[in-house]
Amino acid sequence: MTRAASQSVYLDHNATSPVRPEALAATMSALGQAANPSSVHAAGRRARSVVEDARAIVAELVGARASELVFTSGGTEANAFALASAGDWASRLIVGATEHEAVAANAAASGLAVEVWPVDAHGVADLDWLKAQLAGLSADERPLVALMFANNETGVIQPVAEAATLVHAAQGRLHVDAVQAAGKIAIDMPTLGADTLALSAHKLGGPQGVGAVVHTERAPLRPGLRGGGQERGLRAGTENVAGIAGFAAAAQAAMRDLESFKGQALWRDSAAERLAATGAVVVGEAVDRLANTLCVAVPGFSAQLQVMGLDLEGVMVSAGAACSSGRVKPSGVLSAMGLSDLADCAIRASGGWTTTKQDWDRFAEVWCAAYGRHAARARMKEFA
Ligand code: PLP
Repeated sequence: MTRAASQSVYLDHNATSPVRPEALAATMSALGQAANPSSVHAAGRRARSVVEDARAIVAELVGARASELVFTSGGTEANAFALASAGDWASRLIVGATEHEAVAANAAASGLAVEVWPVDAHGVADLDWLKAQLAGLSADERPLVALMFANNETGVIQPVAEAATLVHAAQGRLHVDAVQAAGKIAIDMPTLGADTLALSAHKLGGPQGVGAVVHTERAPLRPGLRGGGQERGLRAGTENVAGIAGFAAAAQAAMRDLESFKGQALWRDSAAERLAATGAVVVGEAVDRLANTLCVAVPGFSAQLQVMGLDLEGVMVSAGAACSSGRVKPSGVLSAMGLSDLADCAIRASGGWTTTKQDWDRFAEVWCAAYGRHAARARMKEFA
C-alpha cells in the first residue's frame, strides 16, 4: 500500500499486515513456475526446494530447526493442530484468559475441561496462580498449558519463558501462540522453552492463508490432515508453494527489520499521549508491549463509533474484538483484565512496516477531533 496510491492511514497491521514487496515478488515468482513439490521431475524438484528453503527461513525466525516446522493454512490451523496433538496426551488443560479465539475455541473443543489462567489488571498472566495450580496436580497428571506470546488487542507480552520453566517442572507441555509476536520481537524457541508454537504469515507481511506450527521433540504432532502424506505425514495436502515462498520472504524481511520496528513505540506513544490528555485510557501501558500496538478506550465512546468516525477520515483501525461478520463485540480481553466497563469502547491501532510517524500523528489528530465531537454531543444531551 503506497502513500501515493491513497492518502489513507492503515493502522491495522495486527489484523493483516500488507504484503511486503519481497513477499509479493516471491509469491508471484513461485506461482509463475507452479509444479507439485511431490513430482520427481525437474519442475517438481524446483518447487520442493522452494518449500524446503522456506522452511529453513521460517524456522530461523523462531530459532527452530527446519525439521521441527510444519506448514499450515494459517495461525488458526497451527493453534488447532498443536492443541489437538497435545490434547490426546494431556489430562489437564490450562489456558490463558486473554487467548485469541483460535486457541480458546479449540481448547474448548478438546474434550478436556478448560481451566482459565487469570491475568492481572495489566493483562499479564498471573504466574503465582499457575504455580499454585501446577503444585496442586497429582504425580500422574499431564498438564497442557497455552499462553500467547503477545496479545492481539493490547500487544501485552506474556512471561512465556517463566511459564515454560514452571510447566516443565510439572512434567507438562507449553503451547505458545506466537502469531502476533513473530516478526515483531525476537523469538528463540529453545531459550523460550515453548514445546509448540503457532505462526501466521499475514501478520508479518506475508500472504494470507499460510502459517506454521513448530514443535520440539518432546511434543510430537499427531497427523492433522490425512491423505497424500505431505509434511512428513503430519499435514496432508499439496503444499501452498506460492504462499510458503511469500511467508519465507516476509519472515526474512521481518528479521531484517526487527531493530527498526522498535522505533514504532516512540510514534505510538506520542499519539497515545495526545489521546490520554483527553482522558482516554491506554490499556497495558505499564507493562511490556509490542512496539506497534495501541489499545485505547474512553468510557461511553463506543468502539464502533470510533472505528467508523476514523474510517470516514481515511484512518483504518479495529475495534478490540471484531467478529468475522464485521460487527464489534465487547472485548473479552479487557473483561478478563477487570476492565468490563471499557470492553465495548476500546479500539486498537497497530502499525507495521508501512507505517510512518505521520500516520500515528494523523490518527491522533483525527481521533481527538472525533472525540471532541462526541464529548460536545454528550454535553448537549446532558443539557437537553
Ligand atoms: N492468534 C492470534 C493471536 C491472532 O491475532 C490471530 C489472528 O488474528 C490468529 C491466532 C489467527 O491467525 P490466522 O488469521 O492466520 O488464522
